[in-house]
Amino acid sequence: MGAGATVDSQLYGGLETGGTWCVCALGRGPGELIAEEQFATGDDPEQTIERVVAFFAGKPPIAALGIGAFGPLDLRRDSPTWGHVTATPKPGWSGAPLAPTLAARLGVPVAIDTDVAAAALAEQRWGAGQGTRSLAYVTVGTGIGAGLLADGRPWHGLVHPEAGHIGVPHDLERDPYPGCCPRHGDCWEGLASGPAIAARWGSAPQELPGEHPAWELEAGYLAQGLRALALIACPQRIVLGGGVMECAGLRERVRGQLRDLLAGYPPDPLLGERIADYVVAPALGDRAGVLGAIALAAALR
Ligand code: ZN
Repeated sequence: MGAGATVDSQLYGGLETGGTWCVCALGRGPGELIAEEQFATGDDPEQTIERVVAFFAGKPPIAALGIGAFGPLDLRRDSPTWGHVTATPKPGWSGAPLAPTLAARLGVPVAIDTDVAAAALAEQRWGAGQGTRSLAYVTVGTGIGAGLLADGRPWHGLVHPEAGHIGVPHDLERDPYPGCCPRHGDCWEGLASGPAIAARWGSAPQELPGEHPAWELEAGYLAQGLRALALIACPQRIVLGGGVMECAGLRERVRGQLRDLLAGYPPDPLLGERIADYVVAPALGDRAGVLGAIALAAALR
């Protein structure tokens, strides 16, 4: 083994399919990527698959491919439509056989999970979730997504979790905004995503000053959702990121409101005076998704 070689000398492919952008990468992890490319996610999944195949053509061979994808997805291994996108609002993508087609075209084993589960894996392995076995990764942006890891693996049940759509208390007197979720109206995402903030206040989140009342309300909704996650999934840590969280001071407000809501129960310092160690900022930024896809591929071995 030459100088600088790692114990794990195999290369993995990673693909993150987002609603707007796709990212392909080849490597082993952060600092060990030998190629990376980003392109727009069009309305034609076949074209996207061709772009991915073209990215890996002529490059060193990969041992496996991991995919972190926007959903919803069929992730049941015994399902005839495993690895397909299911009923998504994104035009052209409902029913797209993403994972099986890429497995056939590239001739390698493929692992697929949600983009947020992949991001959770990456943060756990290389970022702000290191040292945990159970972790929640929550992103607040154009929607709210949450990836949950239990004992180091993405948590699945009947389907994959859709924590962005849980219900949170909505005081219509304080906040008459009806919510923007096309399915549920005032679910968590419907009340607290970036588009909800913009529609409620008539101004994009990044244009609202830090002292605007929008942020106290936003912190309250985010704390309500995190309370449900903390009480039901009991992650050892919550990584809270996404574009909306770039508002200065918002994470601190969420921590304060979450601590107040929990009111000392369950009795754990991380849910009380150490809440800043419980709700933390991501460490990998917008690269968590594609790095997580590589982690998914590596976990196949
Ligand atoms: Zn919803």
